[in-house]
Amino acid sequence: MSFSSSCILPPAMLGILGGGQLGAMFTVAAKTMGYQVTVLDPDPNAPAAQYADVHLCAAFDDAVALQNMARCAAVTTEFENVSADSMRWLAQYTEVSPSGDCVAIAQDRQQEKDWITKAGLATVPFAVICAESDIDSHLEELLPGILKTATLGYDGKGQIEVDTIEELRAAFTRLQNVRCVLEKKVDLRAEISVVVARLNEQQTVCFPPAENQHENGILAYSLVPARLPQPVLQQAEHMAVKLAHAMDYKGVLAVEMFVVGNEMQLLVNEIAPRPHNSGHYTLDACISDQFQQQVRLMCGLPPAATDLLQPCCMANILGDVWPAHGEPNWCTVLNHNTACLHLYGKKQVRLGRKMGHFTVLAEDSEQAWQTARSLHLHLYNDAQNFCSTALNVSC
Ligand code: ADP
Ligand code: MG
Repeated sequence: MSFSSSCILPPAMLGILGGGQLGAMFTVAAKTMGYQVTVLDPDPNAPAAQYADVHLCAAFDDAVALQNMARCAAVTTEFENVSADSMRWLAQYTEVSPSGDCVAIAQDRQQEKDWITKAGLATVPFAVICAESDIDSHLEELLPGILKTATLGYDGKGQIEVDTIEELRAAFTRLQNVRCVLEKKVDLRAEISVVVARLNEQQTVCFPPAENQHENGILAYSLVPARLPQPVLQQAEHMAVKLAHAMDYKGVLAVEMFVVGNEMQLLVNEIAPRPHNSGHYTLDACISDQFQQQVRLMCGLPPAATDLLQPCCMANILGDVWPAHGEPNWCTVLNHNTACLHLYGKKQVRLGRKMGHFTVLAEDSEQAWQTARSLHLHLYNDAQNFCSTALNVSC
């Protein structure tokens, strides 16, 4: 069923499922553009709640909350594990993007790989393991490999590296015999991601690919422009757009890719049906940002220009930089005149939790990365010095 081919304009009420940092940055973008926002999130301290007009503090499948969401002019999500059925239900009453079907694909590594292949793109060699009986010597060609749960994994969680068939069996048991994919571990020359903004086949753009560096399975830095040959980056953009077209995707789609070997072959790793951590650099370094695009596309507006205005490097700030008491020394970042600090306002600090990020602008991405690393190191050192001073005092 189609509702209206005309655009949704301010001050219409937009709805978002999920109120984490992605929901918060979406809400700021929407509010800045003059829209109103309703956020659905069960956490009373959800970061988006501090900016939203309405916070429905309820479960994602709460019937009354979903009825409220259905009254919004358009609804999107920031949370890929939101129920695809809730999105499909909402689509009976309002504009929903991305579709429940697209969200369902991104929730399942097996389906995701099927779609990547259907789009004519390459993935790492893999096999699906549904039961212990699927594990036998024919899987040896995928070793050393990484066993990943088919659903619900993020930030490296739900993954175990395996070198032998015995280790594979043990890992499958440790992952509680849930459906998994076993991927061959490939030699990563680099990792990149492309954020695509697609309204329809004619109106699709993408942001410049980011070069991503992970630490302990969590994104640490995104450098833009990525330090790879231009033809490889162009091919990455082309592949990401091809995948978005194949899925008939509406909204912001992030496509993670591996760059493998000396020949720099591009393999699609996974997709996210929403703005992505590796696209946060767009907030400070591009003509438009990924959250403004999400607002535009859900409202039926054409995507905005995505040009990079200046080379940059985004660095994540994890809970790890919090001292035992108080706050990190934010002056470290704030005193730098081309570093843009973004804190998400999360009340609970945990190791590995994404609490904020900063983006450094510079002459080139290498220089931006050097500066970002040095600022990062300062934050870590400050936290550690503080802890040891506190310990000395208490001794
Ligand atoms: P998540 O959903 O946790 O982001 P990913 O599948 O993207 O899971 O894996 C996290 C990181 O682990 C990747 O960014 C990459 O650094 C590494 N990794 C994952 N799969 C492979 C693989 N098949 N070969 C080599 N490295 C991998
Ligand atoms: Mg990933």
